[in-house]
Amino acid sequence: MASGELQFIRNLRSRAGRPGGTVRLGIGDDCAVLRPPKGHDVLVTTDFSLEGRHFHRDWHPAASAGHRCLARGLSDLAAMGAHPMAAFLSLALPAGFTRRAANRKWLDDFLGGLLHLAKQTKTPLAGGDTSTAPGDAILADMVLLGSVPAGTELRRSKARPGDILYVTGYLGGASAELAALAQTPRRFRSANPTGDHPHLYPQPQLRIGHRLRGLASAAIDISDGLSTDLTHLCEESRVGAIIDAESLPLHPLLNSKGDALQQALHGGEDYQLLFTAPASSKIPRSISGTPITRIGEIVRGKDITLRNNGKPERLQPAGWEHSL
Ligand code: ADP
Ligand code: MG
Repeated sequence: MASGELQFIRNLRSRAGRPGGTVRLGIGDDCAVLRPPKGHDVLVTTDFSLEGRHFHRDWHPAASAGHRCLARGLSDLAAMGAHPMAAFLSLALPAGFTRRAANRKWLDDFLGGLLHLAKQTKTPLAGGDTSTAPGDAILADMVLLGSVPAGTELRRSKARPGDILYVTGYLGGASAELAALAQTPRRFRSANPTGDHPHLYPQPQLRIGHRLRGLASAAIDISDGLSTDLTHLCEESRVGAIIDAESLPLHPLLNSKGDALQQALHGGEDYQLLFTAPASSKIPRSISGTPITRIGEIVRGKDITLRNNGKPERLQPAGWEHSL
């Protein structure tokens, strides 16, 4: 996309601002140059945001699509207790995309949403790639680098029987908001990241992740749904779990029609943290204004049990899974 591409990158470079800190050289050269803080390990995560799969141009405000594109990887860094170091955006746009003013506006707002969250979380955009997509869909991939003091990252695999299970914030809000968005996208056109929009503008729990290093035994972010992500954590740790339905912090957007519990258990993309800590660990009731709720405990074996009205039932992972 020749001149379009050059213009786009020039614009992006000025909007991304001058890097600093761990980014010694950002957008403009063949590679970025990073210098991790002394004595730190580097963590890397990458996430696709594909039109039609992760966002819909006729549902999502462009700023929300940009925000979510970065939020996914930031939530992975949060889950491991990492500080963001740099972000890289690979973007493929349909041929001729920027010829239409409405599309240029979309792109502008997409980057606006992404860069707003980048600034808020001190995550410099340090590079990327721009290309023409083979089809009509916008394809974006984000690579994020983060750092932790050497050897202190939180992992999925360190939960032990007897540990207590906690979750941050509220569950099910993202799937409730997504259902409303799909029905009446117009209602959400002026939504912005300062409001509570669990689907459109999820807030990665970076501060909580940092606080949990040294407090938690294991952690994972809830991207696919509590039932599925708890299963991942238990499998990696080779343990089972018991959770109490009554204790789950239901998001206020969930109506009480009876499927609220199902959405809290299986609805994806809440980007909250699910973590375990030894019973002797003093876990605060809230961190940076976000409530921390005890929802169950880790047990021996590999079964995950849901106690609902005192009745124990087997909890199957029923969250998000890509069919390949
Ligand atoms: P090269 O052809 O050597 O890979 P490019 O022309 O693709 O370089 O990119 C020039 C500069 O612009 C590089 O620093 C690259 O990281 C940056 N860049 C290109 N596309 C993006 C993008 N979508 N987001 C952020 N930076 C980008
Ligand atoms: Mg090059």
